[in-house]
Amino acid sequence: MFAPLPDKPDHPSLELELLEAWEREGTFAALRARNEGGPIWSFVDGPVTANRSSLGVHTAWGRTLKDVFQRYKALRGFDQRYQNGFDCQGLWIEVGVERSLGLNSKREIEDFGIEEFARRCREVVVNSSEALTRGSIRLGQWMDWGNDYFTFSDTNIEYIWKFLKIVHGRGWLYLGHRATAWCPRCGTSLSQHELTQSGVYQEKTDPSLYVRLPLVDRDRESLVVWTTTPWTLPANVAAAVHPEGEYGLRENGEWVLVARYPDETFTRRVAGRALVGLRYEGPFDTLPPGASVEHRVIPWDEVSLEEGTGIVHIATGCGPEDFELGKALGLPVLMPIDEAGRFYDDYGWLHGLSTLEAADQIVGDLGDRGLLIDAGTYLHNYAHCWRCDTPIVYRLSDDWFISVEELRPKLLEENEKVEWVPEYMGKRMDDWLRNMGDWNISRRRYYGLPLPLYPCSCGHLNVIGSKAELEERALEGFDQLEELRRPWIDRVPIACEQCGERVTRIPEVGDVWLDAGIVPFATLGWESPTRVPEGYATGAARGLTRADLPDHAYWERWFPADWVSEMREQIRLWFYSQFFMSVALVGCSPYRRVLAYEKMLDERGREMHASWGNTIAAEDAFAQMGADVMRWQYCAQPPDRNLLFGFGPAHEIRRKLLTYWHSVKFLVDYANIEGYEPSWSGFGRVDEPRPLDRWLIARTKQLVAETSDGYEATLTVNVIRSFESFVDDLSNWYIRRSRRRFYSLDEAAFATLWYALVQSLRVIAPMLPFLSDHLWRNLVLDGPASVHLAGWPEVEPPDETLLAEMAQVRRVVELGRQARSTSELKLRQPLRRLVVAGAAGDAARHSDEIADELRVKEVTFGEVESSELRVKPNLPVLGPKLGAALRDVRERLARGEFEELDGGRFRVDGHVLEPDEVLVERVGREGWAVASDDGVTVALDTALDDELRREGRLLDWIHEVNGLRKTSGLAVTDRIRLWLPDREIVEAYADRLKDETLAVSVEAGELRVERVV
Ligand SMILES: [Zn+2]
Ligand SMILES: [Zn+2]
Repeated sequence: MFAPLPDKPDHPSLELELLEAWEREGTFAALRARNEGGPIWSFVDGPVTANRSSLGVHTAWGRTLKDVFQRYKALRGFDQRYQNGFDCQGLWIEVGVERSLGLNSKREIEDFGIEEFARRCREVVVNSSEALTRGSIRLGQWMDWGNDYFTFSDTNIEYIWKFLKIVHGRGWLYLGHRATAWCPRCGTSLSQHELTQSGVYQEKTDPSLYVRLPLVDRDRESLVVWTTTPWTLPANVAAAVHPEGEYGLRENGEWVLVARYPDETFTRRVAGRALVGLRYEGPFDTLPPGASVEHRVIPWDEVSLEEGTGIVHIATGCGPEDFELGKALGLPVLMPIDEAGRFYDDYGWLHGLSTLEAADQIVGDLGDRGLLIDAGTYLHNYAHCWRCDTPIVYRLSDDWFISVEELRPKLLEENEKVEWVPEYMGKRMDDWLRNMGDWNISRRRYYGLPLPLYPCSCGHLNVIGSKAELEERALEGFDQLEELRRPWIDRVPIACEQCGERVTRIPEVGDVWLDAGIVPFATLGWESPTRVPEGYATGAARGLTRADLPDHAYWERWFPADWVSEMREQIRLWFYSQFFMSVALVGCSPYRRVLAYEKMLDERGREMHASWGNTIAAEDAFAQMGADVMRWQYCAQPPDRNLLFGFGPAHEIRRKLLTYWHSVKFLVDYANIEGYEPSWSGFGRVDEPRPLDRWLIARTKQLVAETSDGYEATLTVNVIRSFESFVDDLSNWYIRRSRRRFYSLDEAAFATLWYALVQSLRVIAPMLPFLSDHLWRNLVLDGPASVHLAGWPEVEPPDETLLAEMAQVRRVVELGRQARSTSELKLRQPLRRLVVAGAAGDAARHSDEIADELRVKEVTFGEVESSELRVKPNLPVLGPKLGAALRDVRERLARGEFEELDGGRFRVDGHVLEPDEVLVERVGREGWAVASDDGVTVALDTALDDELRREGRLLDWIHEVNGLRKTSGLAVTDRIRLWLPDREIVEAYADRLKDETLAVSVEAGELRVERVV
């Protein structure tokens, strides 16, 4: 006996039951044990930042995909590592702690104490990693929980030190001095790749100022510049014109670019180069820094002729392009703001103001001095700090860089070998690799990788490559080194290897992408002489994991990864950092194949923001839709489009799953009634199958083949599509057409349906691990205890001929239904005849099915006579093919000047049009309903005679009685006595009535049913 199934699944509760069962039975451990020693499939998990208090639905998406493919590969017998990773350092963590402590600046962090601050940061990681683990387990993700890697372990940090030492050995490490993107709140520079993260560019309204700069040697003439960053004006050193641009002098004495003022009258016009060298009064010569500079007009080819006034205010200390230009022309550099984005003391009345506070005062002051021509606002996309949302500024900064030029060609070459899914992602990586600048690796912060750089006044840069080397060269303080971390590490000075002087570490910490980028080396034991038990539980990670540090042989086995997967923005982040580090260290990509996917939005297509109230907590989603439904939503998503996630789509998915559920329930119910009890040893054996059984078996094999291909291509969307179409065939064709065979013990029907259902459970198990196992445990009583231990079904070629034949049959039926709907005849009304034209010959073998399904007495294959044939071009297809000839073809079709060829093709003026290139409409002769598509035409004889009418009435009665059975609460197997008011029907069709309504007797009388006890 199968356990009876309720009318619909309660996803959340069956999922919780299974989590318990897997735990109790050690299902995952059994799976791993079974695959141990099998072929290797190496997946390396990109670390999730451990700064949230619960799993988000965004993270759950990536985790689902990772789990799906690991499960699939496990079913196929592959040995895997299942190591989960947590990202534990950097500003994400720091900003959260700052908020919780109410700290607003670096100064306040230092007052609070870096040591205690570090402890609080670790606490966040501890709590968050526990919460993320809980959420991931609830999602159904199978990982080696408890053996996770944490990027803040000393082991991980030492590996990065080693990398930096190697990079330094090649001469790639240098201290750069340039204008860089800067977050004034976080007090640190941002790297180029950090500016590419999603959410960085946001709409922002800035002032839009037109400012007059009087020329010194020209009476009553001035330049007009435009700026959206008033705070940079006190740092102005020059004004740039395009040497080839045409500039004009307005009647009021203002110089502007002629092209920007088409309606203006100019008293003089000159080329930009004629203005070069002119001196002007700086906008803030009233302040000492401005007064110290001689302001002149300079030439610059990059001056935009489409924006502003064509004269650009240059502040070499406030923008990267300005800085480079200044370097080339030898201009002075003024740097107005400090690390916190506040004006330095020498800026007089501005000192201490933030750039935002200063803006108002600057505008006011310019107005007072008569230099402001116009002040408005300007809406544009502007970069914000990805961690704290503060608008970024540019300031001069000394940062440590890794030069990328030498490695760039090799990076491009190695990327060519990576298989990117979807393919365009690889192109994006290629673009990035071609255009990226040097890697800014230093951050002026606290809780991060301590950069092991010890520059000495003798000019030598000491780079420490390991903890052991640090111990050897430490002058003091090594004993108090709790972790490789600030503040402890800063108390360990070393001796310069060149001159012996005492040197201290630079205060900067490292870019977090170094932490994650080293993972394919640090977690796999690259160059580690031995396996170190719990060797990853070092430093801050002590007590959080039991992960070993493997030996080098292990790295050889598991590197490079066969597959990695993350969101698209990781191309410039994690995909990039590990790629760069790997090509630098060992000359090849750390991964063979990548699945990258686009963004998640809410179901209406908007970004999800807590403040908009449209975010969904994973906890709520688990409770309200269930993990399987979430997983389906993720898996159904083509990776090249944004996922619109929400409860609306979840509802639709539950409906689809319900169809499947009902198919299983159908088998369970009737098997229990008829006493069908299959045995695993006889799985797949069907004695004396009927054509429809053979078809479902072939259809099931096709499902296995298609889903195997989908998983192999790492495209879950293909697997879902294949499964959906299978469920439709199973429910709306096989069960629908075979229903009556289950009213008695038809072994072939039961065995076929059981086989199809069980195989389908196996192929969806990776995507829907809960539902599939729940139903498996119900349907397979003496086989493997869990679908996840059942292995992958054998992929066999299906009988393509049979599949094509039945697909043709379903098409004919579909057309038949269409024809019926145009005739306005009820579906239950039997008809005399259906004529089919253009269907492949073998469909005729199933004319019984077609006749029965469409309620016609006879199906014939032959010509359909129609009174009229209308053919129109299918424009989206035909347009591109015909181009200019389309118009002529269209007119000829409209005039009926075409010839009908076989196979649904048409010839028009020498062009042969394929079936999918035309839209065909046939109008039947009087008394016939016609429908046509892709070369197949059906015609339904709509004439009714007395016999047909009577039978129509019979079917109406049967329908009504069966409805009555249901509303009277009768079980499907209950026998009844039946009374019908239609005497003629009772007399003519007594046997059929009994048969179809499970009646033991039928008599004329008022409509009623009575259960036979
Ligand atoms: Zn910030
Ligand atoms: Zn030295």
